[in-house]
Amino acid sequence: MMEGIVVKAYGGFYYVLAGETEWECSLRGRFRHEKQQVLVGDRVELTPRHGRAGVVEKVLPRTNALVRPPVANVDQAVMVFALREPEPNPGLVDRFLIAASVNHIEPILCFNKSDLGGDTQLEFVARYGHLFRVLVTSAKTGDGLNELLQALQNRVSVFAGPSGVGKSTLLNALIPGLRLKTGTISDKTKRGKHTTRHVELISLPAGGLVVDTPGFSSLDLPDMKLEDLAGHFPEIAQLQGECYFTGCLHDQEPGCAVKKAVDAGAIQQSRYLQYLEFLNDLKERRRY
Ligand code: GDP
Ligand code: ZN
Repeated sequence: MMEGIVVKAYGGFYYVLAGETEWECSLRGRFRHEKQQVLVGDRVELTPRHGRAGVVEKVLPRTNALVRPPVANVDQAVMVFALREPEPNPGLVDRFLIAASVNHIEPILCFNKSDLGGDTQLEFVARYGHLFRVLVTSAKTGDGLNELLQALQNRVSVFAGPSGVGKSTLLNALIPGLRLKTGTISDKTKRGKHTTRHVELISLPAGGLVVDTPGFSSLDLPDMKLEDLAGHFPEIAQLQGECYFTGCLHDQEPGCAVKKAVDAGAIQQSRYLQYLEFLNDLKERRRY
């Protein structure tokens, strides 16, 4: 028995990468009865057959499973925003960061279009640089692409972010032979946005696997309990247990360690205000 990772599913076969070899596998019969879906990204046990054929015997437990694109066991999400055209919006960046955290995916913030950047770059690096891994790239000039390739090594990564920020252009630059459609939204629609692509995990020349289809481009704040929100802000989560009240929501409560940290400048005011805004969103949802 061997262990491998499903990199592609096509025509009823599952292509499993084990070491350097890709095996064309069918599924052991009982999968059909159990209705267990096998996803790209799944880690599986397989029995080799003749040539490079094999049979998937078992799917190992998943760390996560995304819906769009449908991929399992994603280690990290490269969350792409443009420094200009379209200008990044901190509230949106924070929503993406929370979505990653909820899915147990490590975020890498990638601010693209550095060739157009200007002052926005400093502002966003200052806001996030001490909290998350931040990269600045230009798919146009190639600026920062080596750092991006390095960040992808030994991990399974997916690209996500709003539309028009350069996700497809970046993926095309990183993956030899890939030709995702790029351009304005209307260009992409004209050229047939709805043609379904098969999701595939591509091995990068420098190592690491990347999902060849960009992920979610817009999203709502995921629903959660009010007291869980703070856990998705690392700078707030690290003060857990230090407030006077257990279950402190860091809002109006006296003796709040988070508010003290904001006043002392240890937590950025703008991130804290964003936290409060999300907290209110979650409260509003509970009223209807
Ligand atoms: P996606 O919707 O996130 O996949 O964005 P695309 O990759 O389709 O890119 C949207 C537009 O931005 C296209 O016209 C690209 O040529 C352009 N673009 C992508 N990356 C860069 C960059 O680094 N600099 C500049 N100036 N334009 C870029
Ligand atoms: Zn508190």
